[in-house]
Amino acid sequence: MTNATHSPAVTSTLTLLGTGNAAVTKCYNTCFVISTPQSHLLVDAGGGNGILSQLEKAQLPLEEIHHLYLTHAHTDHILGAIWVVRMVAQAAAKGKYNGRLHIYGHDKVLQVLIDICRMTLPTKIIKQAEETILYQEVKHGETRQVGDLTLTCFDINSTKEKQFGFRAELPDGQAIVCLGDEPYKEENEPFASHADWLLCEAFCLYEERETFKPYEKHHCTAKDVGEMASRLQPKHLVVYHTEESDLAHRKARYTAEIQESFQGDINVPDDLEIIAL
Ligand SMILES: [Zn+2]
Repeated sequence: MTNATHSPAVTSTLTLLGTGNAAVTKCYNTCFVISTPQSHLLVDAGGGNGILSQLEKAQLPLEEIHHLYLTHAHTDHILGAIWVVRMVAQAAAKGKYNGRLHIYGHDKVLQVLIDICRMTLPTKIIKQAEETILYQEVKHGETRQVGDLTLTCFDINSTKEKQFGFRAELPDGQAIVCLGDEPYKEENEPFASHADWLLCEAFCLYEERETFKPYEKHHCTAKDVGEMASRLQPKHLVVYHTEESDLAHRKARYTAEIQESFQGDINVPDDLEIIAL
């Protein structure tokens, strides 16, 4: 018998807080946390105060989150961020939130967030937020340090709403790429190719395209994701932002369709699933 080999200790994780598309009710809208030894990066916040219960269930206290990245200003991604701003400002006012919350996004998404906060939150909270929250505009192709992540942002060239994805380098050198919630476009290849982890949307199965109409909503299917992955060759694929008609079998059904064209590691996570990176 040979000695057992030990896998290296997990240093970073991906926690899927939500995995559904905009209109879901049986799971939460797509948003997630990349946790590294030094920090947590929350990416989008879903469409409401469900973000608070998802964070609670994932045992990620808001007090420990100091970085929030917003991809775009659609309701299912940005409205939860109003609640994050509110609860962080409230905690800071009580001395229960140390340091700043950095919110990263392009000019449009930050402006929308600031405007909605101003229109819907009490003046006291707005004042506190001005002290606690640091809005950081990101530009296409720009690289910056976020905790112990090195983050390069890119415009996904959305036809619907200005949206930025990112390629982040983890402390161990792995690259994790977020393509946002729209189909991959060729011009993003320099950012998206040969990722260790590629995060992308699949609205539904190709075999159910007539039911869910992904193409007219500017989304794609599991089959399309498989074909894209066979070109971009990530080591691991993570698929989210789906319909919710059969969540119990989603993992198996989507994986099977993607596998027809991509043989790498395929993850179709459920809400609150944690993936070791
Ligand atoms: Zn969305």
